[in-house]
Amino acid sequence: MTVSGWEDHVRRTIPYVPGEQPKQTNIIKLNTNECPYPPSPGVAEAMRAFDADTLRRYPDPNISVLAEALAQYYRVDKEQVFIGVGSDDVLALAFLAFFCSDKPILFPDITYSFYDVWADLYRIPYERPALDENFHIRKEDYKRENGGIVLANPNAPTGVAMALSDIEEIVQANRSVVVIVDEAYIDFGAKSALPLIERYDNLLVVQTFSKSRAMAGMRIGYAFGSRKLISYLQDVKYSFNSYTLSSPAIAMGTAAVKDDVYFKQITGKVMAIRKRVQEKLKSLGFCFQDSKANFVFAAHERIPAGELAAMLRTQGIFVRHWNKPRIDNYLRISIGTQEEMDSLLAALETYINHEKA
Ligand code: PMP
Repeated sequence: MTVSGWEDHVRRTIPYVPGEQPKQTNIIKLNTNECPYPPSPGVAEAMRAFDADTLRRYPDPNISVLAEALAQYYRVDKEQVFIGVGSDDVLALAFLAFFCSDKPILFPDITYSFYDVWADLYRIPYERPALDENFHIRKEDYKRENGGIVLANPNAPTGVAMALSDIEEIVQANRSVVVIVDEAYIDFGAKSALPLIERYDNLLVVQTFSKSRAMAGMRIGYAFGSRKLISYLQDVKYSFNSYTLSSPAIAMGTAAVKDDVYFKQITGKVMAIRKRVQEKLKSLGFCFQDSKANFVFAAHERIPAGELAAMLRTQGIFVRHWNKPRIDNYLRISIGTQEEMDSLLAALETYINHEKA
């Protein structure tokens, strides 16, 4: 109790902890699943061409130019597109808009650790069905009464992807609630649920420019859904903050969407490097599920993950490690450039062989 008592009326939350963004530049940063390559050259061009004078004006609240570019690229109508300040913003607004029931929403025990933070913030009840021992979602767990569902596909931090038919089964079994599929990592080899939005008006598919379009710093996320679903989401957005994306973000995001060749090139490179990294990690005694994301979630057969993370850090190599039940022996390693991954693998190999001796 404070003297004046105001603290008794504060909305207290336990916030999400983002991955570290170290100040040093001479490090190998494999801890936040950023893209190791720059954005499309068209983005730099749009940045150069941007007229600072136009900053006097508010940006277009409808984000029309980017919404049209996304609609065209993904072959949907503009009214089926929603845009926000990173997919975190889109997800936060979607939780607010769609999870307004007394019944618990469902998401896995191991998944993106922002979901429970938003649920707690909004006082949404939730349950977290456990992934199976191989970190796969058990779809039966999502066929009971609930107030909504959110699934990351591929899941984070496991990298495990679900078959589109399984996603469809879950959406079909839950027509009376909204199902959110968070596809932050979809462009690295899994199948998007986007085609399902024509058949299921309760499905929201969320994606981001932060990973596959190499624009985490610009903060652009988007979602697809039925016109009705998107209009409810727009209503919540306009009840919260009408000018979300800045005008430079709109211009640069639009340039990025238009460069499909580059997009395919960088995602292809990440997937090829991931394959080589997985092979090498296996030979060093790591185990992991096959990843369809731009990271690998791996545990070593003998050496604790915390020890490996600390060792790598002393060498300026940052990976992510959580001290949480079930996953505390795993490292989440983002896929960097081939050179960065060679350095990581060399550091691991030296340490592991030294430990053996
Ligand atoms: N969903 C998942 C599963 C993520 O891992 C992330 C990245 N931390 C996000 C959403 C949010 O990404 P952003 O806000 O950069 O689009």
